[in-house]
Amino acid sequence: MDSCKVVIVGAGIAGISAASRLCEAGCGNVVILEASDRIGGRIHTVQFGDDEMPIEMGANWIHGSSHANSVFSIADQIGAITPYRLDNTASHRFLREDGTEIDRQSVLTGYNIFKKAEHEMYSQMKALKPENGKPVYIPITRYLQLFDQERQQLKPDQNVADITLVLTAFENYIRNHEGDELERIAWEGSSSWNVEEGGEIHIPGGYVQILQHLMKGIPRSALKLNSEVTKISYAKGGRKTLVTIKNGAQYEADHVIVTCSIGYLKKHMGTLFDPPLPIEKSRTIRSIGMGRMNKIFLEFESPVTKPSYNGIILAWKDSKVDKATWYKRILGFDQVFTKDNTILGWVAGDGAEYMEDLSDDEIGITCVKILKQFMGRADLPRLKAIRVSRWCSNPYTLGSYSHQTERLTPGEQEDLARPVRCPLSKKPLLMFAGEALVNACTQGARDTALSAASAIIEHYTTSKL
Ligand SMILES: Cc1cc2nc3c(=O)[nH]c(=O)nc-3n(C[C@H](O)[C@H](O)[C@H](O)COP(=O)(O)OP(=O)(O)OC[C@H]3O[C@@H](n4cnc5c(N)ncnc54)[C@H](O)[C@@H]3O)c2cc1C
Repeated sequence: MDSCKVVIVGAGIAGISAASRLCEAGCGNVVILEASDRIGGRIHTVQFGDDEMPIEMGANWIHGSSHANSVFSIADQIGAITPYRLDNTASHRFLREDGTEIDRQSVLTGYNIFKKAEHEMYSQMKALKPENGKPVYIPITRYLQLFDQERQQLKPDQNVADITLVLTAFENYIRNHEGDELERIAWEGSSSWNVEEGGEIHIPGGYVQILQHLMKGIPRSALKLNSEVTKISYAKGGRKTLVTIKNGAQYEADHVIVTCSIGYLKKHMGTLFDPPLPIEKSRTIRSIGMGRMNKIFLEFESPVTKPSYNGIILAWKDSKVDKATWYKRILGFDQVFTKDNTILGWVAGDGAEYMEDLSDDEIGITCVKILKQFMGRADLPRLKAIRVSRWCSNPYTLGSYSHQTERLTPGEQEDLARPVRCPLSKKPLLMFAGEALVNACTQGARDTALSAASAIIEHYTTSKL
């Protein structure tokens, strides 16, 4: 049995951030147990296409190009974000199923209705009485009611049919942004993406560079890949915690930081923890939503979009979807700015999950058909390569990113973040960190991990680690 001070479960940005902070503070006695054969978790940069350019199967942007965002700070420090690229200047063409383009005026009217609805949602949120001083949630389907109300106010000279199409596309946009079907999501009055000042930016050389940089401060021997943790036996009395991995090896630790996704915790918490988690923690894990979102990268013989716009939005006539029509959850295709001949499709909710049962070839054929139809281009260049994410069936993620639900009582996620402590010494025994606690973004996942590491460091402020 290996004895170590801190065991960290998971080598995503949360696990690696916690380990690097502990090592910085002089606690090199850390072991990171990672179930898969790579670091990164939902940060997954891969090489794609003839030129093997880096593309992102998971996290895409840094949400906020300012030093308020600790992930941005690292990217800036290591020179990973030059040339600078702000992503929120995007201009997309909205295309109809018959291969024609919706005029900009109708797009603008639809966009303004969407923004007005968002504003109205904020006002409605403000009017709700916060419970115990904490925020309350409203269903995200409220958007649709507001869209309807606004549509009824349109004047006869406005293009109601096209504006309706644009609003259906915005419905898909909300699904993509929040990462699931609207009925499953609650709205808390702010974007779960916590966009800091400065907009969204890409890391052209790959998101994984952030992790590679952090790993430099962690002893090589600390990282154990292919080590799925199957049991965490934490002693409430404050004795050592025993962490068992799939091959039977065990690690003894004073502290354990768990950074598994909420999807993984939902499925495995019943067998993973001994004794079972305190009731309030297991209830919170059940209440947090796990979203479904996937990406489809398509490389063509030559570019399919023009440099003057950033991609296309598919204005589907209706928003109903089943297994056979999974593709109606494709919001659109973005131009991948580092590769002229490559576009990225975004698919959310039920469609994202249904798609995972199909082969890459089947998905590619469908996408080409859709592109020909919406772009009105029978002469689309030949599809050369496809790469598809499958986050819902990834056994160590079981979904894309978490979201609010109406079942999630305000403040519950903060309870999940609170360490399980030894009643006598107050030593933090078992801690949760990562995206599960904050919903969605890398910087949130990292910040919760730094807090967990700090709780351990603070515990030892009077004694040497
Ligand atoms: C399609 C998609 C797009 C996204 N886009 C963005 C974006 O643009 N910007 C952004 O900021 N965020 C984005 N995100 C979210 C972002 O990727 C996550 O918030 C972040 O990477 C989560 O980090 P984490 O360390 O908390 O969890 P993870 O990255 O999931 O890491 C957890 C690790 O734990 C491992 N693990 C699980 N169970 C066990 C076990 N039993 N034993 C050992 N190891 C285990 C997993 O293999 C994994 O490596 C996106 C996510 C997806 C899926």
